[in-house]
Amino acid sequence: MLTHEEARRIILERVRTLDAERVGLLESRGRVLAVDVAAPWGLPSFTNSAMDGYAVRAEDCRDGVALAIIDYVPAGGRATKSVLPGTAIKIMTGAPLPDGCDSIVPFEHATEVGGTVCVGQPVVAHQHVRFAGEDVSQGEIVLASGAVVRPYEINMLACLGMEDIEVVRRPTVAIVATGDELIALGDRPVPGRIVNSNSYSLAAAIGGVGALPLLLGIAGDNLPVLREKLAEGLKADVLITSAGVSMGDRDLVREVLAELGVEIQFWKVKVKPGKSLAFGVLGEKLVFALPGNPVSAMLTFEEFAAPALLKMMGHRQPVKLLLPAVLQGEIRKKLGETHLVRVRLEYSGGKYLAWSAGKQDTGRLKTLLQANALAVLPAEREYFAAGEEIQVHLLDGSVGMTSL
Ligand code: AMP
Ligand code: MG
Repeated sequence: MLTHEEARRIILERVRTLDAERVGLLESRGRVLAVDVAAPWGLPSFTNSAMDGYAVRAEDCRDGVALAIIDYVPAGGRATKSVLPGTAIKIMTGAPLPDGCDSIVPFEHATEVGGTVCVGQPVVAHQHVRFAGEDVSQGEIVLASGAVVRPYEINMLACLGMEDIEVVRRPTVAIVATGDELIALGDRPVPGRIVNSNSYSLAAAIGGVGALPLLLGIAGDNLPVLREKLAEGLKADVLITSAGVSMGDRDLVREVLAELGVEIQFWKVKVKPGKSLAFGVLGEKLVFALPGNPVSAMLTFEEFAAPALLKMMGHRQPVKLLLPAVLQGEIRKKLGETHLVRVRLEYSGGKYLAWSAGKQDTGRLKTLLQANALAVLPAEREYFAAGEEIQVHLLDGSVGMTSL
């Protein structure tokens, strides 16, 4: 049986970055650039004032000198005159620097009296001047292919006039829930039946990493429906199934996937929860057969499927950073399995402290509501003492539940 790390390595080795598409600037948020972006013009594109004040010649600004104000230039305007010796032009932030001057004296360092300005502080040549091209020069590759587009990149792209941009495509991810016990959301559970909740949590998590979920509903534990649903799911870039992949006599998912041509790369990983995870490929398409238990389905998605989706979308660091945290209370675990422990992380005294978020049985979905992070406890250890340093990573969407 594969270890947690081996399983993730095998998955990530099979992932190819998807092709590119051109999207509108706002739609590029969170996506990965598929092209280098060269600046069609420099930034700033013209030399301008960094302050509201007066455009002056630094050499004129000796103590007690009054400079005649000969013009006014607001942002978006242009001076009609040049700054000559003994004169100044009133200027607003962002306005083009008039000819003849080399420095800006901010309002707060000057006194204006009857059409003249007295400078109250020594002036350093070029102070408060933003020179054309000092931030970005024309032709410079300001963003390289592979860059993640955040709001900051959006601002830069907008500065450079990019109304649309080539980014890596988002994968479509089909979700098929399996199990005769499942009823659809909206139907009333009768004894023996449960609501198909996994399709929804998975769709939310898939959307959370920026991929496109496709809900294909419920296939029972019977071969014809399963065949039909899984075949439909294989039209997407990625197929994610839940349940029907362990040792039960109606666990038919792997069998049907194989029938449909999916090459199962592995089944079972030494990880708890999530042991019965299976992973397969059909050409470049990926298939994750997740365990049915809602906690196991979520955590295996988080550990194995999410990094694959991120890599498909061009992210170079698809695996979450692990943070050190100080364990509060001891934990005993089974040797030989990586344990994914739902923890409550808090920052205190310069460190992260991690508490167990509650009962860790996989049937306890509520524990996941108290958790903001997952502790990844290595297979080769069986006891962790209170006060030990452990490795954790934040659960998706938990930044707002975490003090930093
Ligand atoms: P299985 O993997 O088929 O053994 O299912 C494990 C557990 O997960 C069982 O208690 C199932 O009832 C439950 N389960 C399976 N599929 C779903 C689902 N789509 N939503 C919620 N629970 C599920
Ligand atoms: Mg089942």
